[in-house]
Amino acid sequence: MLIDCFEDTVWKIRPEGFTVKSCYNWLRNKKEDVWWYKIIWSNMGAPKHAFIAWLITNNALMLKSRLFQLHIAPDNLCCLCQLQEENHAHLFHQCVFSAQILQGVGQWLHSDLTQSDILLKVTRRRWGRLRKSICCDAVFHCWYAVWMQRNQARINQCIVVPAVVIAQIQQAIRSRYCLYKSCNVSSKDRAWLIRVQLESN
Ligand SMILES: [Zn+2]
Repeated sequence: MLIDCFEDTVWKIRPEGFTVKSCYNWLRNKKEDVWWYKIIWSNMGAPKHAFIAWLITNNALMLKSRLFQLHIAPDNLCCLCQLQEENHAHLFHQCVFSAQILQGVGQWLHSDLTQSDILLKVTRRRWGRLRKSICCDAVFHCWYAVWMQRNQARINQCIVVPAVVIAQIQQAIRSRYCLYKSCNVSSKDRAWLIRVQLESN
């Protein structure tokens, strides 16, 4: 008798018979798809940004809160501000350093990027598709920059001031804008692009 797939811990035989796919998915304990995977792994995002964003959304970076628990770090304080426990919520959202960067880039894009659950908020806003893509990409740029600066602070005890990081992110998004141009641009998006000076009249 062919055995098909498990549900929980019990083998079930399905009418369509055995499939390697269903067996593999059971063996690796496949979970439900998460809503944000398409945003992070979009074609327009830089792979290094997507990779770090993926780890952040999964709370999987080795931050000092975890390193301290493992007795690898002497304390659990944030490398950037030295004031709060360094966990994912603090480092990429609440820390004064990351908040300044998200605020600065958000002001340039006329879009508030400082809210918690920012990816969910962006996808639910009544913006055009292109604006949503660029804003998500901007958030990933910010997160990546914060992660790089955090590592600089930990290893070399120095960081770049937020204004310089914001300017670098703006430059990077401007230079990547040619990738976005291949998308269909709605009239709503066009007006926004002119406002943030990614396009001229
Ligand atoms: Zn901090």
